Amino acid sequence: MSTSPRAAAIVAELTLEEKACLLAGADFWSTTAVPRLGLPAMGLTDGPNGARGGSLPVAFGGEPIPSFCFPCGAALGATWDVEVIEAVGRAIGAETRSKAARILLAPTVNLHRSPLGGRNFESFSEDPLHAGRSGAAFVRGAQSQGVATTVKHFAGNESETVRFLSDSVVDERTLREVHLRPFELAVREGGALGIMTSYNRVNGDYCADNAELLSAILRGEWGFEGIVVTDWFAVATTERAIVAGLDLEMPGPGRAYGAALADAIRDGRVTESAVDAAATRLLSLFDRLGALDDAPTAPGVDGRPEHRAIARTAVTASIVMLENHGVLPLDVDRVQRVALIGPHAAALRIMGGGSASILTERPPRSLLDVLGERLPGVELRHEPGVDIELGTPTIPGDLVTAPDGTAGFEIQRFDVDDLGGVPRATVHQPDASWSTYGLSTPDAPLPYSAIGRGTLRVAEAGRYVLSLVHTGRAALHLDDVLVLDLRFDDLEAGHEYMGLARRERSIVVGLTPEQPVELRVEFWQEEPLFNHGFRLGLKTALPDDALDRAVEAASSADTVIVVVGATEEFDNEGVDRATTSLPGAQDELVSRVLEVAPHAIVVVNTGSVVSMPWASRTGALVQAWLGGEELADGLADVLTGEAEPGGRLPTTIPRRLEDSPTFGIDGTENGTVLYAERMLVGHRWYDFRSIDVAYPFGFGRSYTTFSFDALCLSTHRVTPDGTIDVTVTVTNTGARSGSEVVQVYVAPPTGPVRRPLRQLEGFAKVSLDPGESREVTVTLDARSFAHWQPADPALDELVGRVQRTLPWATSPQGRQHSGWVVRRGIYEILVGRDSRTFDHSLTVDVPATFA
Ligand code: BGC
Repeated sequence: MSTSPRAAAIVAELTLEEKACLLAGADFWSTTAVPRLGLPAMGLTDGPNGARGGSLPVAFGGEPIPSFCFPCGAALGATWDVEVIEAVGRAIGAETRSKAARILLAPTVNLHRSPLGGRNFESFSEDPLHAGRSGAAFVRGAQSQGVATTVKHFAGNESETVRFLSDSVVDERTLREVHLRPFELAVREGGALGIMTSYNRVNGDYCADNAELLSAILRGEWGFEGIVVTDWFAVATTERAIVAGLDLEMPGPGRAYGAALADAIRDGRVTESAVDAAATRLLSLFDRLGALDDAPTAPGVDGRPEHRAIARTAVTASIVMLENHGVLPLDVDRVQRVALIGPHAAALRIMGGGSASILTERPPRSLLDVLGERLPGVELRHEPGVDIELGTPTIPGDLVTAPDGTAGFEIQRFDVDDLGGVPRATVHQPDASWSTYGLSTPDAPLPYSAIGRGTLRVAEAGRYVLSLVHTGRAALHLDDVLVLDLRFDDLEAGHEYMGLARRERSIVVGLTPEQPVELRVEFWQEEPLFNHGFRLGLKTALPDDALDRAVEAASSADTVIVVVGATEEFDNEGVDRATTSLPGAQDELVSRVLEVAPHAIVVVNTGSVVSMPWASRTGALVQAWLGGEELADGLADVLTGEAEPGGRLPTTIPRRLEDSPTFGIDGTENGTVLYAERMLVGHRWYDFRSIDVAYPFGFGRSYTTFSFDALCLSTHRVTPDGTIDVTVTVTNTGARSGSEVVQVYVAPPTGPVRRPLRQLEGFAKVSLDPGESREVTVTLDARSFAHWQPADPALDELVGRVQRTLPWATSPQGRQHSGWVVRRGIYEILVGRDSRTFDHSLTVDVPATFA
């Protein structure tokens, strides 16, 4: 994107203050308008699986306009289908416009570095090339709709623990070959017009202040011409960020930019030309989008039916069948009695938590609903079996009444040491929750205390789980009796309130409609968190024999489907997991069901990999991800055979968490995230160490079979500017239509430079009818064979010194510059269906090392 003359002319008209303010948001979701020059504000919206528009997620106290929820990033990664991902990008781009926004805060291309990464669900893959190609496809799709994407989070944001402070310590080679590659592909192949910097530091520097990343690499080397925006509230330093190349600080009002930037220009700490450059880049982007004359529009619901169809295709293309022992697809004509087991069978989880969460246009459908429609006359029995405890739904306004008689809860806010004294403010909430977002303000100062009150009247008598989630300290009284005292305990951290809350705590109580109870929450917020509050949850408690009932239902059904899954805490922003085990007693549930029903189908409804100690004993096993609003229908399509399970794993499923590349170095140690596995991310690690895995990267079974034949290469020589076409003939040798992914890996020769045994360097998905054959070509270039060589200018002099003392010592050459190098030798090109199953290989030759 070259500088737009119109943008340059506007910048020339702007005052110093206007320029400085233009580079910071006006509020949470828009840039600063300059009415004097007719310059409109530009709307920004999350996110990767749907366009939420100008509001916070519901969990943070927002009241979003409904949006359509598409499959999460890991699901899109599992499609291995750039056309499907591009179509989803196009649809989310269009929805962005319906939300009156021009900047879409997506896609997330950070890697699944650890199976415990809280935001893995949002990211495509463990593999840099796979994540980058997927990201590029999403960007192309979204940007075709007149919006800019901001590829995020640049860079080294593979963990969520203390994310505002953590320092990702990554050596230069690993950064280049692994963690920058997805961003590079999104820029070079996708044409991304925006990049979002991450919260964390990289090698000591906050990313928004990092000139090496933003200027030298992103703009200098990759030719990026778009804008760089901070993550929300990410740390930036006025003087450093403007020189580094940060264009927009969000949200507004700015902390580093805005008034602070204007002061810095006046004091001579920042040159006006640096500010002009950023303002010109920002306005050139708006001009390129055709947005400089945008009239204000009201955000609305997009509601295009074709988006539902795109999402449905993406769901079936993402579902990975890991096991199938003659059980799937279901023979729907013979099914008579179905046992649907597990809490998720009646309530699939369709999205992850945090900024990727949206309010759906209609309540998500469950597998129970959909199978009920698809299998008329069939007996369907649902047994949850276990309660996975967290995320008890907030008590809605129709069950709780505030003291003034209106539906909802009353919140009185007091000075922190004056609970119950003179209220500073009284607010009415539509349900039994209280969430505020933002730091201390004169109207709502921090610290403070609060009392929440309401009368709870249930519709049916029974045993209920009553839960409390809170930041700060809290206590729950029921009819003036203290029932949950969470004032002093050093409680486990939870995931809600942006990961700032304590883990949900609950009690079981008997309630009847005739006897309403008074709820009173006492609350103290002393720490200055930016999201704080509390919420009360309520759900029916399961009977004590719930597990036995599930087993009994399984033993008397001809078809058993167990849906296991995660709590919101599992797939969430701001928090990493401690384990890959399924929450609650779900492993026990599956094992007990398999004892009586070895033909049971297990569906895993998570956005990240989980350990499945019972996997090999299942009749069939499918990974269904967090598939968005069409998940239930798409899953039913696959189970009944109306569609094939088109997905392949975008991430290895290890046998044990202990085998994974980052085990023992997950999270931070004194704020440091050490990328000690270096280039050996994901499958590269397991291969290098010959570790047996549960299911390899790229793996997935089909309802049909394929053969790969006649592998050929367009040339056997790698040259600096040439390409190599790798062509294989794929034939559907089975009896039904299906798709297969051709995966091309490059194995470098052994030599003095340590490298992974092989790297994924290309892939293509092909759909074939029974008996049909097609030639599939994947193109490689010199980069497919290269490694990054860091500069070591001092080496020549050192070698000279060593040779003077030890003339027989071998002497490497000094390197004045860093860069990509293709070393001489024979490279193997392997073509197969997953990172461990290769059908064919051929070799190519690099006669002499080149840079
Ligand atoms: C997330 C970003 C998101 C932003 C705005 C941050 O907490 O890390 O991915 O786009 O919030 O919601």
